[in-house]
Amino acid sequence: MRLKSINPATGELIREYDELQWDDVDSALDLSLEAYRQWKRSAFTRRAELLLALSDKLLEKKEGLAFTISLEMGKPIKESRSEIEKCAWVCRYYAENAASFLAPQVVPTEASQSYVAFNPLGPVLAIMPWNFPFWQVFRFAAPALLAGNTVLLKHASNVPACALAIEQVINEAGFPVHVFQTLLISSRKIDNVISDRRIQAVTFTGSTPAGRSVGEIAGKYLKKSVLELGGSDPYIILADAHIEAAAEICVKARLMNAGQSCISAKRFIVEAPVYEVFSKLVVQKMSAAVMGDPMDEKTDLGPLARNNLRLDLEAQVNNSVAKGADLLLGGVDPQIPGAFYPATVLGNVTSGMPAYHEELFGPVATLIKAADMKEAISIANDTTFGLGAAVFTSDIEKGRYMAEHELEAGSCFVNDFVKSDPRLPFGGIKESGYGRELSVFGLREFMNIKTVVVR
Ligand code: NDP
Repeated sequence: MRLKSINPATGELIREYDELQWDDVDSALDLSLEAYRQWKRSAFTRRAELLLALSDKLLEKKEGLAFTISLEMGKPIKESRSEIEKCAWVCRYYAENAASFLAPQVVPTEASQSYVAFNPLGPVLAIMPWNFPFWQVFRFAAPALLAGNTVLLKHASNVPACALAIEQVINEAGFPVHVFQTLLISSRKIDNVISDRRIQAVTFTGSTPAGRSVGEIAGKYLKKSVLELGGSDPYIILADAHIEAAAEICVKARLMNAGQSCISAKRFIVEAPVYEVFSKLVVQKMSAAVMGDPMDEKTDLGPLARNNLRLDLEAQVNNSVAKGADLLLGGVDPQIPGAFYPATVLGNVTSGMPAYHEELFGPVATLIKAADMKEAISIANDTTFGLGAAVFTSDIEKGRYMAEHELEAGSCFVNDFVKSDPRLPFGGIKESGYGRELSVFGLREFMNIKTVVVR
């Protein structure tokens, strides 16, 4: 089978790539293990130097890498540049901060010495999605490599050029060969890699069904796993919020990456007294977004990454409207080449509609009316997902309390949209997955947290 890189803005084939045969995968696994034996013994300072070099290399090659992202998955070019900058940041962050994260921790006991040491695990498999084709990889790989692990990347089949560009930039930064390798294979061959004895752990980002399958194999073969899956992030807008500012932030969060983000604002749950004014503002701001060529600096909204994703989204919207949702904006196939879907707003969404329960991975804002704060919280938590959540209110203490105690999600923000940050842990609960990425928590996921006791 061949992996196809298709420009989603035009539907044209960019290039085809031969999928690796098992023999190639087998030797990549051997090489990863061999590289690990050296890499784990390298000094932390050397690994940190290489991560700094990688950070610089990413910035040096930013234009070309951003172009590859936009061409292959359709993100507006200005967002692709920001993605590369964020990757440079995560490399720098770990290089400059991880010495303290990895330092042994003394725990006084009756023994003469007792402490916790942090050792790498070995080759780790990363199965990654196309929506942030660089960031998703770097936020895992930067800490994993710094910790002394080696990495094998199985990227999404629609972004092979990004997958190869990542391997190349890491090699160009000076990392020893085979410490990071890209495996050009489709998901149909991945079970054999997860179960292979040379793989010590697996990290997965993508849909909940695929994550379930990875978790099942990882469980069967007792491989440590981290799963970062979908989300249907609720954003609560309370009556005392600054409505104009809230609408501005919510629309920005919904349209970023054409809405193809696990932590996009997906369900706007609005207290009844401000529902009408908020929904008008959302429609106004969503309709102002410029849809078009991802390479154009003025474009706010590019195509979706694949045509089948557009068709799935269209079906979710149509189904919700058929079940009684109000179509306040968009929702009509623009009838142009490429996988474009317009900015869309659904009003009066209620339980039983796809827009209420499912993840809508596209530029579709869902408005749900709540009688009061209590009902808003109950609707926010009425989901199988638990990745991110936000609350908008002028009462900061109330917002903070809701974020900390009431909302069932891995990240809860007050008066802002949910975003990942190298300094803070990132991950979900419920069917949004388990484990954490980023910060000290992410670094320790793929380490042997070892107890050492000397009598
Ligand atoms: P998938 O979950 O199918 O793909 C993501 C990654 O998982 C790809 O590398 C894919 O490889 C791989 N994969 C797919 N099936 C399996 C499997 N059974 N075992 C192991 N790996 C697998 O997402 P889609 O691209 O199909 O998108 C569908 C939906 O998933 C979106 O609409 C969105 O709801 C959600 N999604 C969530 C993301 C997030 O950031 N949490 C990111 C992307 C999608 P291959 O491409 O070769 O199939």
